[in-house]
Amino acid sequence: LDKPNTMSSFWMPFTANRDFLREPRMIHSAEWMYYTSSDGRQIMDGTAGLWCVNAGHRDPLIVEAVQKQVHELDYAPNFQFAHPQAFELSGKLTAMMPEGMSHAFFTNSGSESVDTALKIALHYHRMRGDSARTRLIGRERGYHGTGFGGISVGGIVKNRMHFGTLLTGVDHMRHTHDLDRNAFSRGCPAHGAELADDLERIVALHDASTIAAVIVEPMAGSTGVLLPPNGYLQRLREICDHHGILLIFDEVITAFGRLGAATAAEYFGVKPDIITTAKGLTNGVIPMGAVIVSDDIYNSAMENADAPIELFHGYTYSANPVSCAAALAALESYEQNDLFRRAALLSQPWEDQLHSLKGLPNVIDIRNLGLVGAIELAPREGAPGARAYEAMKRAWDAGIMIRVTGDIIALSPPLIISEPEIIKLVQTLGEVLAELP
Ligand code: PMP
Repeated sequence: LDKPNTMSSFWMPFTANRDFLREPRMIHSAEWMYYTSSDGRQIMDGTAGLWCVNAGHRDPLIVEAVQKQVHELDYAPNFQFAHPQAFELSGKLTAMMPEGMSHAFFTNSGSESVDTALKIALHYHRMRGDSARTRLIGRERGYHGTGFGGISVGGIVKNRMHFGTLLTGVDHMRHTHDLDRNAFSRGCPAHGAELADDLERIVALHDASTIAAVIVEPMAGSTGVLLPPNGYLQRLREICDHHGILLIFDEVITAFGRLGAATAAEYFGVKPDIITTAKGLTNGVIPMGAVIVSDDIYNSAMENADAPIELFHGYTYSANPVSCAAALAALESYEQNDLFRRAALLSQPWEDQLHSLKGLPNVIDIRNLGLVGAIELAPREGAPGARAYEAMKRAWDAGIMIRVTGDIIALSPPLIISEPEIIKLVQTLGEVLAELP
């Protein structure tokens, strides 16, 4: 096991850099802030797994809840039947959501949450006799998972270009952060809210009455931590309201405390019509996602539940009892340990530490919000992404796990991180960057 056989049958997800495929860094176990590698080294988790392990690894509250549930009810079909954990979880989950969003549809991942949200949005308009509203709008550099819906509305051209026509009737707004290379931006850019007016450009191209929904990550995560300018999301909301367009926030990364609030909607004070979640919902233990909808959307679907055009949607594992138990315990752990507030309180020392990397060779921008950080490196001549990729390898050797996308290093530690651990994480990264060719 320690020497992975590259001819083995495990098809690892593709990444741009192939030598991690040939030689993956092997992880043996984990506890709270740390992984133990297969060669017995402690590696600090600077990324909360893949933005999901917000309460730290193997929180006993969650582990025990999962064990107990497996012994009691392992599975129950969720078409026509239900179990109490699903109701308990939807109650607890929606209590964390903005006012008037009190129903949750369960999925198994962020990608499924996105597809579900898009289908619910289209269905909503159809139910109201507005069946011309079929167009969807995403944003350049938006990431919405790997399903066909998600890559269609997603803004990464290379992720979708090889898969034919995908969803038709999709447009993409310009992205929110024209990177100012020397900005060293702290928090959201003060200016640039007018980028939201790009939605008006798209509305003008088509009849507004043909547009069903706009989907955005309130803070683009996977494509490099792109922070929305102040007022940008408010302006999007206003434009959507003006034209009767639904607004979907993809909060797969931002929900459950990452920004120092339960949701980005709460953090930015903007209420969307639909919120997609996954990742932190179970603290990474078991796959699960949830789509939370406004009461208007839910009531409209219920009023018309017997209509000839019903919404056929759901998954074998939606609201799986073991996933529900894991999620209930994860939300309980977040609450008991006051982790969202903790993230808010730590955001200042986090910012101070990150910005101490300013001036290191090749560092051209540093961004932060809540407990998210991005350090953007100057690309190596003729080899975009190579420099950050080298940093990731060296960071692993130096005992920290970081994530890279292109030449951007993303950090998103578990929300249980302490101040000394923040210092250790960032200083270790600083040492790696200082030596980087
Ligand atoms: N939406 C966003 C905003 C994401 O960050 C991700 C995952 N990085 C997804 C959707 C897809 O989630 P999953 O990988 O669980 O399908």
